[in-house]
Amino acid sequence: MARPKALITGASSGIGKVYAQRLAKRGYDLVLVARDRARLDALAKELSQDGAAAEVLVADLTQSADVTRVEQVLEQDAAIGFFVNNAGIATVEPHLHTPVEVIEKLIALNVTAATRLALAAGRAFVGRKAGTIVNIASIVAYAPERFNGVYGGSKAFMLALAQALTWELNQNGVTIQTVLPGATRTEIWERAGTDVDERLPPDRIMGVDEMVDAALKGLDLGERQGLVLVEVLGAFEQCPAGVPDPGAADLEVGAHRAGVRAADPTRKIVALSGDYDFQFMLEELAVGAQFKLPYIHMVVNNSYLGLIRQAQRGFNMDYCVQLGFENINAPQTQGYGVDHEAVVKGLGCKFVRVHKQEEIAPAIRQAEKWMGEFQVPVVIEVMLERVTNIAMGTEIDAINEFEALAESLEDAPTAVAASMLD
Ligand code: NAP
Repeated sequence: MARPKALITGASSGIGKVYAQRLAKRGYDLVLVARDRARLDALAKELSQDGAAAEVLVADLTQSADVTRVEQVLEQDAAIGFFVNNAGIATVEPHLHTPVEVIEKLIALNVTAATRLALAAGRAFVGRKAGTIVNIASIVAYAPERFNGVYGGSKAFMLALAQALTWELNQNGVTIQTVLPGATRTEIWERAGTDVDERLPPDRIMGVDEMVDAALKGLDLGERQGLVLVEVLGAFEQCPAGVPDPGAADLEVGAHRAGVRAADPTRKIVALSGDYDFQFMLEELAVGAQFKLPYIHMVVNNSYLGLIRQAQRGFNMDYCVQLGFENINAPQTQGYGVDHEAVVKGLGCKFVRVHKQEEIAPAIRQAEKWMGEFQVPVVIEVMLERVTNIAMGTEIDAINEFEALAESLEDAPTAVAASMLD
């Protein structure tokens, strides 16, 4: 039987190259697209060792005529059933000072070419009633403030485009997945004029192999929008006080836990969230329970949408961020509102609640035991005082202090630093 074919843009390095290697192993022949012929030829030779025939298609996708050639291949080669829409560049210029030539090149490649090719693949695959499109966007599509705005905007554009296309493609037997990787160690950083190791701590950077493996596993599991970030249990070892900083679990910036777990069953994975963002992470618990993908999810619950929201106190809208209420079905929650135990167990996962710091370590040991025994995610809910006020403000010289400062020994008799106060 003839091998199916995958076309990959940006196949000469990084994420695209690893997709080519993985898809060759999965039985695909390849069409490799990028500008660097020497690299593509070397990759084609390497892939032939896995029995994959690879065609090299040299194209500069910032040039309209070159995009047209790739569109034609997608539409005319009926063997192509998998398209990885990956070629992209980044920039680290300050938003307002992004040079015009960088803006134009970035949008030409990340938006114009990627859009034209996604639509060409869509037309071709819908015509054949089968096919898979994988768009490589980025986590910054959700968190654009973290990176250059033009780059973030280009990735948000691809996410929106994929969301718009999903229904029509699915109706016609075509799958579309948008992958939203976090920082991954590839040449893109150097090409953008920066050093990823200087910008980020090592535990925030993924290896390119594990990133692609997690995304492919997510695709296999039916996931259509994959945040790919790696969180490891080691985070707890760096947190001797026991309770990790809830800020570490930014809203919506969760790990793609199920995919990472499936890609590497030996990896220890933990999700960290507050009680508010926990609501957005429930689906993965259900997936974990269904597909036997154990990981720990640690929820710190103060029944309050705290942190940055406290800066809005001046606007008299504090009542809007109180999450607690008297739950008529769960009086034991004592005003904390949502009964997380019922939610978690209802999804088929295990649950343990702790009220004291010294209960956290035994809870983690219990969770590890359950994960071994039942192979499902375990949620550890750490109950904090309700409405945890944190000193903060919009200006460094206008910090809100929610409680009186501890200025004498009497104010803070148990504090370690108390002896230094008087
Ligand atoms: P990379 O190693 O720099 O790969 C980029 C690829 O795009 C190369 O194969 C490059 O090949 C190709 N390319 C660049 N300009 C091109 C052009 N004008 N025409 C045709 N091909 C071109 O970076 P990567 O990290 O693997 O990036 C792949 C995708 O992942 C990008 O869309 C990027 O935005 C996305 N992403 C990366 C990260 C990360 O942290 N690395 C995170 C989120 C998303 P040639 O130079 O040979 O043309």
